[in-house]
Amino acid sequence: MTRVSRIAWAAAVLATLLAVPALAADKPPNIVVLATGGTIAGAAASDVQAGYTSGQVGVDQLLAAVPQAKKLASLRGEQISNIGSQDMNDEVWLKLARRINELLAMPDVDGVVITHGTDTIEETGYFLNLVVKSKKPVVLTAAMRPSTALSADGPLNFFNAVAVAAHKDAFGRGVLVVVNDWIHGASSLTKTSTTAVQTFMSPLRGLVGVVAYGEAEFYRGPVGRNTVDSEFSLEGVTALPRVDIVMAHANMDGAMIDAAVAAGAKGVVIAGVGNGNLTKPALDALAAQAKKGIVCVRSSRVVTGRVGRNVEVDDDKLGLIASDDLNPQKARVLLRLALLKPHTPAELQRLFIEY
Ligand code: ASP
Repeated sequence: MTRVSRIAWAAAVLATLLAVPALAADKPPNIVVLATGGTIAGAAASDVQAGYTSGQVGVDQLLAAVPQAKKLASLRGEQISNIGSQDMNDEVWLKLARRINELLAMPDVDGVVITHGTDTIEETGYFLNLVVKSKKPVVLTAAMRPSTALSADGPLNFFNAVAVAAHKDAFGRGVLVVVNDWIHGASSLTKTSTTAVQTFMSPLRGLVGVVAYGEAEFYRGPVGRNTVDSEFSLEGVTALPRVDIVMAHANMDGAMIDAAVAAGAKGVVIAGVGNGNLTKPALDALAAQAKKGIVCVRSSRVVTGRVGRNVEVDDDKLGLIASDDLNPQKARVLLRLALLKPHTPAELQRLFIEY
């Protein structure tokens, strides 16, 4: 072995040792809990009332409510925001992503748990999946019932999320979402019920694993490029470009597409009917915007299935991008990051296939 290759080998061994989560060394992992709000931190006036307000309980109260989690990991909390996730915004996203990257770069932080509302958890999770630069576990969790409800689901979801973040096999699986005993990949889950506790599904890609009372079982690795393999970075980014979602429907015209662009959208994602389809007048409006340089992506309002390129719509001719298996809300996240740099249409299509 030459001197140079000996040094490279030693560096590789050191990197591997530094990368191994603390659990492997038999000491409780250090997990930081970043609270953003949501129903998991929500409160109602009574335990059997449907109406409640998200984001009422602070991170310390949240931690104190689940003392059992302290047996799984050494925990400390930080409050990032305290909002219903219907109000999730770029400011919180950028702050959250930056803080996660800072924390995970510290050798004494082994993973992060984020408490979040269920409404937009799939968007935040997917955003983090693209911009977090670490293989250490990042696990989002949430609840459908407020903390004050009879049979609140938050405490066990939180306990399970800590168990997953503390698990050595969670390392390198991309950003995960743990709700109702299931471990989802951030790129695959979607909310399917407005109120049911069993709301999250991963229709195309299936579950990453399951977790019951802190006992986790992993079935698969991440699908799609993520975290350390992602080409996206928030380095120097202070704002994200505007991308709007326009839903297709019978008898649609191009007014909403044109209005989105007039409002400043640099990209438009169509929540198309079926395989990303839209009426002839709407398609004409979309193609006209694409010709002007607006990036136009066809996704689908259907909850499962891929949107294929050049299937019923001639994307090549019209200058459009097919979202592959990203739903409209995730296609919007990817497109916003993609628009931070110039890309050719072929490169944009590649992003939708690779991520
Ligand atoms: N509207 C709430 C939120 O997303 C719903 C929830 O958390 O379940 O914050």
